[in-house]
Amino acid sequence: MDFDLTEEHQMIRDMCRDFAREVIAPRSEEMEKTGEYPYDIMDQMAELGMMGIPFPETYGGSGGDWVGMHVCIEELSRGDMTLGALLDVTTSIVAQELYVFGTEDQKKKWLVPIAKGLKIGAFGLTEPDAGSDAASIRTTAVLKGDEWILNGSKQFITNIGLRHASVLLATAITEKKKGGKNIISTFIIPRDAPGFQLGERYDKMAWHASATHGVIMEDCRIPRENLLGDPNRGFSQHLAVLETGRLSIAAVCVGAAQACLDLSSRYAKERTQFGQPIFNFQTIQFKLADMAMAIELARNQYLKAAWLKDQGRNYTFEATVAKLYASEMLENVASDAVQIHGGYGYMNEYPVSRIYQAAKLLQIVEGTSEVQRMVIGRLLA
Ligand SMILES: Cc1cc2nc3c(=O)[nH]c(=O)nc-3n(C[C@H](O)[C@H](O)[C@H](O)COP(=O)(O)OP(=O)(O)OC[C@H]3O[C@@H](n4cnc5c(N)ncnc54)[C@H](O)[C@@H]3O)c2cc1C
Repeated sequence: MDFDLTEEHQMIRDMCRDFAREVIAPRSEEMEKTGEYPYDIMDQMAELGMMGIPFPETYGGSGGDWVGMHVCIEELSRGDMTLGALLDVTTSIVAQELYVFGTEDQKKKWLVPIAKGLKIGAFGLTEPDAGSDAASIRTTAVLKGDEWILNGSKQFITNIGLRHASVLLATAITEKKKGGKNIISTFIIPRDAPGFQLGERYDKMAWHASATHGVIMEDCRIPRENLLGDPNRGFSQHLAVLETGRLSIAAVCVGAAQACLDLSSRYAKERTQFGQPIFNFQTIQFKLADMAMAIELARNQYLKAAWLKDQGRNYTFEATVAKLYASEMLENVASDAVQIHGGYGYMNEYPVSRIYQAAKLLQIVEGTSEVQRMVIGRLLA
């Protein structure tokens, strides 16, 4: 057994860590306050080859692997989770779905610009009446001549409001089986397709720079060739790549939690009360020790899941455990970080306060904690 990162992984880690410290972290407060997406940072990430790490160079990627991708996501999230989560959606989910299920033409047209970071992809599973029960969608797609006509809506769609957003990969009902069960297919829907409209931008609790919108499709017309993969297996295709998404969420959580530990440890050594640094008090040290332990466990878990994926092995259990554990760990770590900072920790200008406010989302997106427990429970049955 070898727990060392390879030389290549270490290079990715060091590059992304420096980038997060020098470029991302100094902009984090401004991003949250203004809600402006840092397009210039995204462009630099693209230039550094971060947007397509696990894909071959022929498809615009960097020819790396999923461990490298997730090391990158962790490190970027240390600077600000918004940039780590960008890779979760556009690379781990959308680009991967195009890579695994797309035709050669679809890959050339849609995957290459996304893997190069020139364009951004969004994924659409959730609808107003279909959240955890994601198969109960109502959006329909009907083939008329050479076009699919889509009608319905998707909600809470991350990144679809960004300037670079090019496509939404979304599920729609195409047919009913004999027993009345829906056949769900996945479609590549260009953002500028006729009949495709963005809803209002959501006003969120945190993650203000991440532009989340609903999507409305009214007689939305897309070419026949924009069907992705097997028409009978659109739903399971979507769920398959969401497994990697869960792994990416775990890496985002580990990065943010590591930032909480670094900031809290430094603050505890600088802040004096009762004539000494608060770091000297055992209650504070124990909090820091618990944070360090939980982060280490979460990191090992996501790396194991990513490694299994790189070996082509099943990683459902490992990715689900990684997401569930890391997202709940982050909320606890961020809460302790605010506590260590005392009243200052409650002020928006302190990064730990922003991480605390943002942490809750990670227990909801890409399957709530309850859904993760259901998946693990099913695997134990
Ligand atoms: C900021 C943000 C960004 C998002 N980005 C995207 C995106 O890009 N694309 C996309 O498709 N979706 C996205 N989502 C949607 C997200 O994945 C869903 O919100 C999530 O899956 C939960 O669905 P829901 O909100 O409908 O909650 P519901 O499914 O209605 O759940 C409500 C509560 O009931 C619980 N529950 C539901 N069913 C069960 C059950 N069987 N047993 C026990 N408990 C249960 C849930 O765990 C939860 O606690 C985003 C959401 C947010 C908030």
